Amino acid sequence: MNFFLIKLLISILFIFNKTDGNYCLSYKTKENDVIDSSFFLDLIKIKSNSKKSDSVFLNPKSTEIWFPEPPLVSPANKFNGVPSDAIVLFSGNDLNEWVHANGDSPMWVVQQDLFQVKPGSGDIFTKKKFGSCQIHIEFKTPSEITSKGQGRGNSGIYFMADTDPSGNQGYEIQILDSYNNRTYSNGQAGSVYKQHIPLVNASRGPGKWQSYDIIFKAPSFSESGYIDTPAYFTVFHNGILIQNNVQIQGVTKYIGYPEYKKHLPKLPIKLQDHGDKVSFRNIWIREL
Ligand code: MG
Repeated sequence: MNFFLIKLLISILFIFNKTDGNYCLSYKTKENDVIDSSFFLDLIKIKSNSKKSDSVFLNPKSTEIWFPEPPLVSPANKFNGVPSDAIVLFSGNDLNEWVHANGDSPMWVVQQDLFQVKPGSGDIFTKKKFGSCQIHIEFKTPSEITSKGQGRGNSGIYFMADTDPSGNQGYEIQILDSYNNRTYSNGQAGSVYKQHIPLVNASRGPGKWQSYDIIFKAPSFSESGYIDTPAYFTVFHNGILIQNNVQIQGVTKYIGYPEYKKHLPKLPIKLQDHGDKVSFRNIWIREL
């Protein structure tokens, strides 16, 4: 065996990672970056089947990234008040600023100073439309744990989400109970879903109020429909920076890779009904 082969064998370390009960083969580089086996499988698929669209042959796991896992950070216990120029989207008692996609009043449950997802009733959208903005939102995942991974306290805040199902699906900041609940890193709380892993995991436990402060820079498109300037997110989770001006690669997708499609300069903000009783309170927004 020549020197090159020996060096290759030493420098390549295959490890098995347990992921939601399944084992997947990973590759560890000399810099200790771990690349999931699905990355290589996708490369092979792309090379062998480049004429097909991504969504034809990719499964959801193809875009899950499990490493690195963001380290835990304990947040401080204080929220800010509402700025004088903010538009209040919820301060208690009613959901007058929100609608379902069909224009009906939200069926989500209002309980004085909070409201809660009514599972199965559908997503809700702001009546007002927004482009670049700063938003503050407080949320609480269910205190009773009945599932794991993506099934635990899942919701999400989608920016520029069209109520028309054929329109723009939006750009999601994930809401999830990520307290002692491992899932793929680019799908945990505070991720730009399937695009950017949060810098740290600043999650509080289930049943505890948490906050996101999000700065969103809307994308712009050329006359001919191509992306001109992409969108960006900066996100604070419980006051801790978790996304630092990250570039959005396109509309949020569960299966396949994100891509941009020209849309209006202002669209609603959407809260996701993912089947979990996530609660919300104190939502305000400032247009930028
Ligand atoms: Mg979600």
